[in-house]
Amino acid sequence: MATRIALVGIGKIALDQHVPALAASPDWQLAATISRHGQVPGIPAFTYFATFLADCPDVPVVSLCLPPVPRFDYAEAALKAGRHVMLEKPPGATLAEVHELEALAKAKGLTLYATWHSRMAHAVAPAKAWLQDKTVQKAHITWREDVRKWHPGQDWVFQPGGMGVFDPGINALSILTEILPRPVHLTKARLEFPENRQTPIAAQLTFSGNVTADFDWRQQGPQTWDIEVATDKGHLALRMGGNVLEIDGRPVAGENTIMGEYPALYARMADLLRQGTSDVDLSPMVHVADALTLGERITAAAFDF
Ligand code: NAP
Repeated sequence: MATRIALVGIGKIALDQHVPALAASPDWQLAATISRHGQVPGIPAFTYFATFLADCPDVPVVSLCLPPVPRFDYAEAALKAGRHVMLEKPPGATLAEVHELEALAKAKGLTLYATWHSRMAHAVAPAKAWLQDKTVQKAHITWREDVRKWHPGQDWVFQPGGMGVFDPGINALSILTEILPRPVHLTKARLEFPENRQTPIAAQLTFSGNVTADFDWRQQGPQTWDIEVATDKGHLALRMGGNVLEIDGRPVAGENTIMGEYPALYARMADLLRQGTSDVDLSPMVHVADALTLGERITAAAFDF
């Protein structure tokens, strides 16, 4: 039988990905939405989360599609009300608040899933398997996209806690932390802040193990979401945000589409519920926090949508 679920924060990602993924899955029934402005046709809609929690005790799971800063209050209220919780990425505004949610979920015997949609990209698992017995000599991430396309008019990305270019960059870091056979740590960062904004629009990162990253939100036209890894036994490239795997220049696995990621997240959540466990890996966010701690700040040209 399908599990009833509520979506909170009906904005870009809820409509682009969560609603279609739920509609296509036999595991789930979208039973309610909670949003101050957004709705999904045909689905009972609530404006206030407290009203939903009081009125719908028969909806055991909530999926929070809000930006990271307001998310904690919703997640805490949901767990306290006995609901299992799925968190969009990045899982919170701070690491400590997510640790607190993890402890609360454990104490209540509930599932908390800090999702990383890019880890579900088609070629990430095969890339991880291929790298398992290799020695990584060098790796480079190029993650360049147009903020106006992916976050049209969303001022929160440039406000404190919005993380700026790390909002997409953390997707690359979620793949890196999944596929590398050994962990790395940040050693240097250069962050470009538009003169009128609170978060970086570009970042260049250096990690231990000869790993580097170039994140930029000012790219026009097609995005570049590539990870290249040189090893003792050949060259791996992940393209299209982890959806296509090339070994020594030849495509060997994956599919050139991002549309498999959210269905896979909801399948994983269904598995976690069946197993009665949580999945909270904060390693991608640790790198972002380190970059914001260690990074050199450069002032860049003002940015407006
Ligand atoms: P969004 O459209 O700006 O926000 C989603 C919804 O959250 C809004 O429509 C709004 O709904 C609600 N919301 C915003 N601020 C709020 C606040 N202060 N308090 C309560 N509710 C608030 O953002 P999005 O692009 O969907 O991103 C949401 C999350 O998904 C982010 O963490 C982002 O990193 C992640 N994500 C986004 C994309 C993408 O392509 N944009 C891709 C993957 C993941 P109401 O006004 O109706 O309440």
